[in-house]
Amino acid sequence: MSDALSKRINSLPVSQTLAMAAKARELKSEGKDIISLSLGEPDFNTPDFIKEAAVNAINEDYNSYTPVDGYAELKEAICTKFKRDNNLTYKPSQVVVSTGAKQSIANVAQVLLNPGDEVILPAPYWVSYSAIATLCEAKFVEIPSSIENDFKITPEQLEAAITPKTKMIFFNSPNNPSGTIYTEEEYRALAKVLEKHPQIYVLSDEIYEHINYGSKLFSFAAIENMYERTITVNGLAKAFAMTGWRIGFIGAPEWIAKACTKMQGQITSGTNCIAQRAAITAVLAAPQKVQYMVEEFHRRRDIVLDLLGEIEGIRLNVPAGAFYIFPDVSNFFGKTIAGRIIANANDFSMLLLEEANVATVTGEAFGAPDCIRLSYATSESQLREAMHRIKQVLL
Ligand code: GLU
Repeated sequence: MSDALSKRINSLPVSQTLAMAAKARELKSEGKDIISLSLGEPDFNTPDFIKEAAVNAINEDYNSYTPVDGYAELKEAICTKFKRDNNLTYKPSQVVVSTGAKQSIANVAQVLLNPGDEVILPAPYWVSYSAIATLCEAKFVEIPSSIENDFKITPEQLEAAITPKTKMIFFNSPNNPSGTIYTEEEYRALAKVLEKHPQIYVLSDEIYEHINYGSKLFSFAAIENMYERTITVNGLAKAFAMTGWRIGFIGAPEWIAKACTKMQGQITSGTNCIAQRAAITAVLAAPQKVQYMVEEFHRRRDIVLDLLGEIEGIRLNVPAGAFYIFPDVSNFFGKTIAGRIIANANDFSMLLLEEANVATVTGEAFGAPDCIRLSYATSESQLREAMHRIKQVLL
């Protein structure tokens, strides 16, 4: 029957983050004691003040279709948030609310990319960027980076990757999976290169902006001459522990926002009405209200870095944000561990799953084949146990 499937779906890889999470769940249901560090999902509950807003919305009978691009009140609130946190001025007509930041990104790609266009992805990059570009029949062009450079790309690399076919570049700071945060100066240096190529649009994915351990965050669209060609993507999943509520949004030039609304109008319509009402409360809340989660992630990051640092051969950067550790494990390639030959990061990740019962995600999925990704959005005791198990297998 798979012959009957379209070329489009057959061209698409399975999301490795979701696949590994599903595999971990399956093994757990078979009775295996798996610790899953695969999915990037806060282990906190959605804060009560947001849950209350959702309950009120149900009781107030919010149950009808919403405007395709989101409730006017929510879009106003998002404009307030963009000004407050990012020094970005957007009008509600420049905002589109979607079913998670993933849909926001897919909308933007669908409305801007033609078959054969090139999309630059500074690696490591989140697994779905490449798949979303593939779905648009665009070609993704990776710019590699290394742990020595804190997984950042340079202006020279960017210049070398640009061709007349380049249509978009995706930035993501704080980065999933490396945790890297670009400074204003670094972003301005990259923008200088883009100035020479006015055909290139920038998608700036800022979903981890609040999970940040002290760096000053800078939004790419805040660069004066980049505003007109930058789409700023954000959402509520990470900072507000609202992954399942599915609220993402963009701030963009009005013509792009309009096109995204048209696309969404034919695919999903407006996102869930209750989640949108609750989102008004979340977006308007001071970021300090969720700082307790950030502090906890920070503490766990340091614990995991300390414990992994004790294992010879693992190389680490210090992630400045998000909730992932992205160790370079290439020192183990070519070695035999627990009777298995470890040729690459896939083998290494499978070794941890099958010998240590710890689920991680291979760096191959993020365009960084020397690394694996561990999410530390889980309890301290689970993290300590996972690091202990990994150490036992590798020593
Ligand atoms: N963004 C999260 C991750 O990278 C959620 C899973 C996904 O949608 O890929 O783990």
